[in-house]
Amino acid sequence: MTLHPESLATAAFAVSLALTAALTAMGAFLKGQPGLRKWILALWLACAGTVLLALRGSVPEAIPVLGGHLMLSLSAAMTWVGMAEFCGRPVEVRRALELSAIYIGVHAFFLLVHPSLGIRSINYILMSTAWNLAIAWMLLRHGPKELTGSSRLVAGLFLADTLFNAGVLLVRATHPLAANTNWLGSLEVAQYLEGLVAGTLETLGLAILLSHRLFAQLQQAARSDGLTGILNRRTLDEEAARLLEICQRQGLPCAVLMADVDHFKHFNDAHGHLAGDEALRHLAKLIGPELRKTDLFGRYGGEEFTLFLPGSQGPQALAVADRFRALVASRPVTWVGAELPLTISVGVAAYGGAGPVELMLLYTEADKALYLAKERGRNRVELTPD
Ligand code: GH3
Ligand code: MG
Ligand code: MG
Repeated sequence: MTLHPESLATAAFAVSLALTAALTAMGAFLKGQPGLRKWILALWLACAGTVLLALRGSVPEAIPVLGGHLMLSLSAAMTWVGMAEFCGRPVEVRRALELSAIYIGVHAFFLLVHPSLGIRSINYILMSTAWNLAIAWMLLRHGPKELTGSSRLVAGLFLADTLFNAGVLLVRATHPLAANTNWLGSLEVAQYLEGLVAGTLETLGLAILLSHRLFAQLQQAARSDGLTGILNRRTLDEEAARLLEICQRQGLPCAVLMADVDHFKHFNDAHGHLAGDEALRHLAKLIGPELRKTDLFGRYGGEEFTLFLPGSQGPQALAVADRFRALVASRPVTWVGAELPLTISVGVAAYGGAGPVELMLLYTEADKALYLAKERGRNRVELTPD
């Protein structure tokens, strides 16, 4: 089978047009996704560049060659800019435009002043290789940490493309264009084929990144409480049950803390429900950073919070609870310029690490201890009564 560069170029264009249309349609549904609009622009620029380059021969060469290459370099630059936006990095559009201007300057020089197709093709490969490397680097260095897998995969695609282009560059640099036309013809076919495969995979890679981010956001939303952002009740119960089982199996102690805001009904009545909501967010923000990596912290419901501390003995858990209580008492909620004091009471239930235990039993015990703390005056901590 003989593969003609022209037929391959037409096939590559048809595929990239279809992928561009698909990503554009995706953009219509996934509004506001960082990077997506820039990537769609990049794909349309690449399509326009390809069309312009196909006009060679029918119009003066400078227009399709320089116009086409300008579009192609802007397309690569926009893909990088979109990747920066996706990764939450500064979006350096100006820098990308400057680099594209330099690229076109070099291309114009070797077209109009000192014509050389060989140097122009090296210039093109250098440009796309540099942007591919920059994109891969952006993903590996700054890819969102919850998307490590897909970031690595897509960076790998861009790196593979870079590697291929580096090989072509080496061959082009060491073999003058006219040295062996047959052999270089095969190289051209290989370049078109690789371009088709790499372009398709890279565009799908962008779609993979977007879907992975959406999936991660969905998972996060399903796990967390809408108001405070900490674990919701369902996730807290599931994770706590799992950790408790591990503690039982390994004979490790653990503790459950139940914290409840004191006189919160009065707080709401005095300052309004929005101030109350802010107080709950404030509490979560105060306690969250104080926890160890293995601790669980969630909203049990209303103005009640639960903490699960694996590895903590009773007295240790009591000390932790009292530290949280003192922290909350010392840091009032700031609400429309006023400092509103807030206190919590905490009930602690501990499991020593021996024998069977149920999560619900620990919850019940912590709840009893919490009632005791309320009875004994609030803004205090109690361990399960015997
Ligand atoms: P105690 O010290 O005995 O715990 O008294 P309390 O007033 O805190 O307890 P009570 O159970 O009487 O009232 C709890 C209040 O918490 C009533 C409810 O309106 C309020 N609350 C529950 N969830 C939310 C919420 O998401 N936002 C706001 N602003 N208030 C809430
Ligand atoms: Mg309550
Ligand atoms: Mg309360």
